[in-house]
Amino acid sequence: MPELPEVEVVRRGLVDHVVGRTLVSVEVTGARTARRQPGGATEIVARLTGRTVSGARRRGKYLWLTLDGEDAAGADCLLVHLGMSGQMLVTGAGAPPVRHLHARAVLDDGNELRFVDQRTFGGWTVVPMAESRDGSGVLLPAPAAHIAADPFESAFDPLAAARVIRRRDTEIKRLLLDQTVVSGIGNIYADEALWRSGLHGRRRSGAVTLRAVTGALEHARAVMADALDAGGTSFDALYVNVNGASGYFDRSLDVYGRAGLPCGRCGTAVVREDFMNRGSHFCPVCQPAPRRRSGARRRPVVR
Ligand SMILES: [Zn+2]
Repeated sequence: MPELPEVEVVRRGLVDHVVGRTLVSVEVTGARTARRQPGGATEIVARLTGRTVSGARRRGKYLWLTLDGEDAAGADCLLVHLGMSGQMLVTGAGAPPVRHLHARAVLDDGNELRFVDQRTFGGWTVVPMAESRDGSGVLLPAPAAHIAADPFESAFDPLAAARVIRRRDTEIKRLLLDQTVVSGIGNIYADEALWRSGLHGRRRSGAVTLRAVTGALEHARAVMADALDAGGTSFDALYVNVNGASGYFDRSLDVYGRAGLPCGRCGTAVVREDFMNRGSHFCPVCQPAPRRRSGARRRPVVR
């Protein structure tokens, strides 16, 4: 699953190679690629052909292209779902077809924008833009209007987000992953941010200080910025790529995926436990687990 830094790398590549270009002809061959579009592939082709890509935008892990400079509620945009393995590639004119190529658009400079997706969870949808439900006036693709600002946006307010997290009073990692509270923090960076903060992900957010929750959000931003610095320069000039599954992105992680390896701070073996159908990785010393609740909930069963 691509995380925010990978999506941002793709967005930057699209800014360099696709923004300003007109989509001369469009072809969608993957049946699943168009499955979110009510009118299917035919409608995607009809609504994209001849239009000029005016912007490449991102909020959290959502990525979209604005069209013809129309930046208003109701205007079309191309929402790109990267899914598990979706790639937006830009190739030169006449590049040979590749496996798992599901959609392509010939650009007016002769290059070709391609959507390649091995596992076909991703796709393209042409959708109207709508105002964000947070009341900020930011325009988002309508299906993403409920998504909160991500830590890289100037509109993001870590203190306000931390207050929401404390008020919801549940496991803090669950809230870091909740895209309606703060967007773009996936499982990997939630674990990394919690390790940097010295917080166990199962700690109840209402019992963590406002300062510590704000700190965790700031760490999430910093750890993703570090990943972006490490990975943002490693793509070829004419090869815009995202592939979260292959380890293409050069990550240097402190706890995620390091179960059994020593914590970089104290040397204790990193532990992995199941959480929300995924894994949580943490140092049991630097990030002490919350104590189990006692009392009424642990009454012995009466037979
Ligand atoms: Zn440790």
